[in-house]
Amino acid sequence: MVLAELGQRVTQALASLSAAPVIDEAVLDACLKEIAAALLQADVNVRLVASLRNNVKKRVNVSELGRGLSKQRIIEKAVFDELCSMIEGGQAAQQEFKKGRTNIVMFVGLQGAGKTTTCTKYAHYYKRKGFKPAMVCADTFRAGAFDQLKQNATKAQIPFYGSYTETDPAVIAQQGVERFKQEKRDLIIVDTSGRHKQEESLFEEMRQVAAAVQPDHVIFVMDGSIGQAAFDQAKAFHDSVDVGQVIITKLDGHAKGGGALSAVAATQSPITFIGTGEHMHEFEHFEAKKFVGRLLGKGDWGGFIDKVKDAIPEEDQQQELIEKISKGEFTLRIMYEQFQNIMKMGPMSQVMSMIPGFSNAIMQPGSEKESQAKLKRFMTIMDSMTAKELDSSSTKIFSEPSRILRWARGSGSSVIDVQLMLEEYKRLAKVFSTAMKGMKIPKNLKGDM
Ligand code: GDP
Repeated sequence: MVLAELGQRVTQALASLSAAPVIDEAVLDACLKEIAAALLQADVNVRLVASLRNNVKKRVNVSELGRGLSKQRIIEKAVFDELCSMIEGGQAAQQEFKKGRTNIVMFVGLQGAGKTTTCTKYAHYYKRKGFKPAMVCADTFRAGAFDQLKQNATKAQIPFYGSYTETDPAVIAQQGVERFKQEKRDLIIVDTSGRHKQEESLFEEMRQVAAAVQPDHVIFVMDGSIGQAAFDQAKAFHDSVDVGQVIITKLDGHAKGGGALSAVAATQSPITFIGTGEHMHEFEHFEAKKFVGRLLGKGDWGGFIDKVKDAIPEEDQQQELIEKISKGEFTLRIMYEQFQNIMKMGPMSQVMSMIPGFSNAIMQPGSEKESQAKLKRFMTIMDSMTAKELDSSSTKIFSEPSRILRWARGSGSSVIDVQLMLEEYKRLAKVFSTAMKGMKIPKNLKGDM
């Protein structure tokens, strides 16, 4: 069962409360039973499910709730809070680094969990926040590990350190950290080896690397699709090195996620980020409330706005854009730039799933690829236009067959595609001009219940 499905089942169970003529003990029990079954099927640890059920029952005394109170809201809130505290693992999830001092972070996890990919995403995330990250490859176990890190780091323009000849990971780690300390890098990320399974040699190596670099934080990277095995795995790592936070990867596609979530709760290490795809931007800061809210289809305006802000980082540009649009200057170039921003935001289903009301409907995969492909096709057509055409806000040029033919030929598209693109432009220009007049964004961006 994928996470979206878990969300749907829990939401449906809660919705069944409103169908009951009276919410009594039996109705509450049936609802909690269904929620427990959904969580168990998503691989959440059985003890955690039992305690969630008990805690909700303790908090909600059905017979004592006054008649005027909305019992359903109270039960929903109790389930929401219990899910959050289960995921938070009893700790505040956020640690903040200080710019200008050296922060050393060590990544640990099994081979294939997504460690190297996540190190780069992590470095990229903090780079955008103004840090000066650097990456050290202390993985001498897997052939090609250094090359992979090098490739990822180069793409993200992050300095890196590694060795093709040194075989002792602790030595490489220490040398890399020393180098970047001298270069005044303020976030040094050390990627360590994994193994196919938990074994003593891996834990011994982790301890040696930790002793050599004295990390401020050890981050355990866990594959979100591994189910019940997650509990033991997280515990074994937690017992070997002082794991301070967890990053769960692969929470896209068909990940069950529940096993990983319960392991986190059981080891009391907070989740700080989640990986939702193979690409650099498919990485999200994790907040239990937002996550559960999104899971239950409550929407996440905060996350949505963050994504939009991330995609359009320059405030000046935004201001300029708003001014242009408000003057009625919605040109093809503006549309092109907006498409680019949408692409930067990541898969549309992810972005859409943050908008209240869209969650459960859009989280299912399907039209995603088509929408992305359409945007790309339109952008290719716009690539074949002249600068003057892109900056023109007159639609007169759209009725000139020779131009349409030139754009179609130049981009290798059909005339119909060009016409579709122009229709989309007209539609968006209209949407933008109306939206500018009365754009409404909810006042409370927290997405809280
Ligand atoms: P490592 O052995 O732990 O360093 O793992 P890698 O970083 O090499 O990742 C293993 C595979 O998982 C690669 O194919 C990655 O592209 C993929 N991967 C990593 N994170 C994610 C994620 O969040 N979602 C998906 N779908 N794939 C991921």
